[in-house]
Amino acid sequence: MEKYFQKDIECADVQTIKGWQNEKLLRQVRNVWDNVPYYRNLMEKAGVIPEDIKSVDDISKLPFLSKADLRDAYPYGLLARPLSECVRIHSTSGTTGKRVIAFYNRHDIDLWNDCCSRALAAAGADENDVCQVAYGYGLFTGGAGLDGGSHKLGCLTLPMSSGNTERQIQFMRDLGATVLCCTPSYAVYIGEVLHEMGLSADDIKLKAGIFGAEPWTEEMRRDIEKTLGIKAYDIYGLTELSGPGVAFECSAQSGMHINEDHFYAEIIDPDTGEVLPEGEKGELVFTSLDKEAFPLLRYRTRDICVLKREKCPCGRTHIKMCKPMGRSDDMLIIRGVNVFPSQIETVLMKMGYSANYQIVVDRVGATDTFDVYVELPGDQFSDTVREMTEKESALSGALKTMLGINPKVHLVQPKSITRSEGKAVRVIDKRKLV
Ligand code: ADP
Ligand code: ZN
Repeated sequence: MEKYFQKDIECADVQTIKGWQNEKLLRQVRNVWDNVPYYRNLMEKAGVIPEDIKSVDDISKLPFLSKADLRDAYPYGLLARPLSECVRIHSTSGTTGKRVIAFYNRHDIDLWNDCCSRALAAAGADENDVCQVAYGYGLFTGGAGLDGGSHKLGCLTLPMSSGNTERQIQFMRDLGATVLCCTPSYAVYIGEVLHEMGLSADDIKLKAGIFGAEPWTEEMRRDIEKTLGIKAYDIYGLTELSGPGVAFECSAQSGMHINEDHFYAEIIDPDTGEVLPEGEKGELVFTSLDKEAFPLLRYRTRDICVLKREKCPCGRTHIKMCKPMGRSDDMLIIRGVNVFPSQIETVLMKMGYSANYQIVVDRVGATDTFDVYVELPGDQFSDTVREMTEKESALSGALKTMLGINPKVHLVQPKSITRSEGKAVRVIDKRKLV
């Protein structure tokens, strides 16, 4: 039976949701105009005043905010409440540059917790569950977000943070953890260590996992589900909007419902800024409708995505986003060809390799070099040189078919690529250093 945390909200009809959004947007525009000179200035430059925004249909009149604005306004320039009212600060992981920070008052923490409780309930959790939070705690939002959600839902919360993997597994077994929350790459690593300890899915009680904060493929999902004997659910979020829980997967596992009562989503053409119709691929833009201390209007996430509103078997009505297909700034352009790391992962996993790989791009003279390092499965390491070379060229051929260009594939020893306890580092682009 499908579980919900706030069923009336999660399953409200679309007109009702739109009504909430209209009301909240008007209030939020006023809040920002009155309290955030930085954004008011952007509105004035764009020639918009709060009275011009009568409903979400007018949202495209508002100017965008980008990560560059957050850096410009660092640290306090986008605060809409006095610091005395704020109770928390978090920061991004800094995947693509200098970290940006976000502030929360009590109300903002409360609504963030609600979002994460909804995600946990959708994964089948309730007060009878033991929820092991193995996202990092600290400035990163993963630990605090799922911890808050687990607590509010009433699960027995095990705040492990990331790392010390053998101890993770020991506590998981001793305390009968039923739900695991961490990055998908850390879930893969936990599976490997479980295996090395001579244990299998039968030795643990996990039934579900909530994995997000980085891109992962369907192939990786199936691998994790098999190794840990669970259903693996995706969760999406970003610090700028609060953290994990902006969107989450339900039992249908076919896209993530966006918490539309708190976040209004748009898809835009990243080059022109034009809003695209539902179903088209583009950059995801969010407006936080409810946040008080650090409200962002039309924030450009740089995540490439598609939105679709469809009748979902879970009963939820909120619009769904697909798995982000990588960030617009994550996309590598190698010898003029667009390459997303997720395309490479799909090919590797389809051909029986693990998700332990690294992409290295460099430039020699005027030509880009493109190398993919892939770990061999442990049982194949004794193969002869000829067999290895054949495998490398088979993989390189399959990657060429997917990408249109030929990488040099290097099969390397099992365990030689650094494991991640947080977000995995898949790409080393040395070209940026020159
Ligand atoms: P940083 O931008 O420094 O990594 P965050 O830790 O706030 O900062 O990460 C937010 C970003 O992580 C998102 O914009 C998105 O690119 C990525 N992300 C989060 N959840 C997912 C997910 N489920 N699938 C793919 N990417 C995700
Ligand atoms: Zn659903």
